[in-house]
Amino acid sequence: MTVTHLFPSLSRRALVGSMLAAPLVISSRGWAAGPKNVDVVIVGAGLAGLNAASMLEEQGLTVQVVEASDRVGGRLRTARVDGYQSELGGSEVGALYGRVRDACARHNIGLTTDGAKGTDFLLHVDGTAVLPADWAGSSVNQTRGREREFLPYILQNRLMFDWLPFKQTNAWLDPANLAYDVSAAELMRSKGVSEAAIRLADIDLNGASLEGVSALSIFRDMARARVEGFNDPNKPQYGGAAMAAERSYIVGGSDVLPTAMAAALKNPVRLNSPVIAIDQTADQAKVFLATGDVLTARFVVMAAPFSAVRRIRFTPGLPDVQADAVVGARYSATTQFHFKITRPYWEQDGLPPSIWSNYAFERAFALKSPTTGAIDTMIVWVNGDGATRWDDRDTNRQVELVLAELARIRPSMAGALEYKVGYSWGRNPFVGGNKHFYAPGQVKRFAADMGKPAGRIHFAGEHLRRLEHGMESAMETGEAAAMEILERI
Ligand SMILES: Cc1cc2nc3c(=O)[nH]c(=O)nc-3n(C[C@H](O)[C@H](O)[C@H](O)COP(=O)(O)OP(=O)(O)OC[C@H]3O[C@@H](n4cnc5c(N)ncnc54)[C@H](O)[C@@H]3O)c2cc1C
Repeated sequence: MTVTHLFPSLSRRALVGSMLAAPLVISSRGWAAGPKNVDVVIVGAGLAGLNAASMLEEQGLTVQVVEASDRVGGRLRTARVDGYQSELGGSEVGALYGRVRDACARHNIGLTTDGAKGTDFLLHVDGTAVLPADWAGSSVNQTRGREREFLPYILQNRLMFDWLPFKQTNAWLDPANLAYDVSAAELMRSKGVSEAAIRLADIDLNGASLEGVSALSIFRDMARARVEGFNDPNKPQYGGAAMAAERSYIVGGSDVLPTAMAAALKNPVRLNSPVIAIDQTADQAKVFLATGDVLTARFVVMAAPFSAVRRIRFTPGLPDVQADAVVGARYSATTQFHFKITRPYWEQDGLPPSIWSNYAFERAFALKSPTTGAIDTMIVWVNGDGATRWDDRDTNRQVELVLAELARIRPSMAGALEYKVGYSWGRNPFVGGNKHFYAPGQVKRFAADMGKPAGRIHFAGEHLRRLEHGMESAMETGEAAAMEILERI
């Protein structure tokens, strides 16, 4: 079958989309040389790409992974600065992460349940500090009815949990559930939720904003979290002193796993080699790198996030639905600042160590060390549109602002934090955010079709998840792309 047959009616939109995709050219420096002609080129050295690569290699195919950045691991990124080690990306391995756990076992990598533990929150809302126990009766609590009882950091989950329309992790694609493919804020309003509650619930959202996220996208994640043990919506899903479900962590840091997976491949990953274009002909795919090199392959696994796929030129262009999904893909920004706590400021003011706020820094998690039990680390973590608002500032300025704001609202914190490292996933040009989410109407428009093979190109990555989430979904989709190719040869 020729490629012309595969795309019989290329639309104007697909062609225009591919012409608009401006190739990103970077200077070539120090990439590992490798074969120019292989069975499969894999684009992206995150868990999805690496899992596809190892499965295909195990079946005897020749494989070349190409990675745009100077490291493997993608959204698994461990910071190691002057003896300080912390995760900037994925860290929690769920109890049901079969593929991640199996990969750890195969590479002799340990897992531990001893991770940093969260501490209690002080609420800081509209200029007033409130203890969680006083929230329901506080005058700054502008929510109404039974909403008043729900602490702001459980509000989103607490409300959505009651309306979860399905339990099975695959049910989100059932046509019957497409009625929920509307803005989460709109769904909340239709259920009588107050505007004050919607504004507070927005802070913990791992998406742009409740207005801009499909409720179905949230229900999908909630159904998955539920099978993992998130059954009590009165506990915060992440970060609090009492977490909803127990998780494990990769010994040595999350990036140990992708590093080991990459090292086990026969051909070294080509780093600093963004793919800028892919041409398909009847019998092969040509993969153009920003370094100037051109690789040829029988198949391609495109395991880069759609936020980055957007800049790759495809000839012929991707089918309509996929081109739409790539251009319309939405990613939730996340910006973090990590500090060493140099003084127990909570002993000075007698308040809980962590802060949940509706200010620009959103949440400040004071964490207990798994080894010493001391509360010694603070991570300020901003998600969604809130994080995007930080992204146009220089990092030093951001840190100054965070420290000044914390000291202003809580004077005991002045001078109690030493900056270690910060990271913006929204600014990472090859990832563009911490996770993909669907905007209202997008599940209906392209969720079912956006991961289908386009000629010789097979797609993988967490944005194409079906049953899993997080790291496990990257592994799931890498496996699916490898299986699709194996079935064709
Ligand atoms: C802050 C944060 C916290 C998280 N917490 C958790 C958690 O606790 N538990 C959990 O399970 N998951 C968590 N996740 C999610 C998890 O890390 C991701 O779902 C998973 O790592 C995604 O893997 P991936 O292979 O799909 O994509 P990525 O890891 O993003 O890999 C894609 C790769 O493609 C490369 N690329 C892009 N464009 C090109 C190009 N043109 N040419 C070549 N290469 C290209 C990128 O540089 C990148 O290396 C978190 C993520 C973040 C950011």
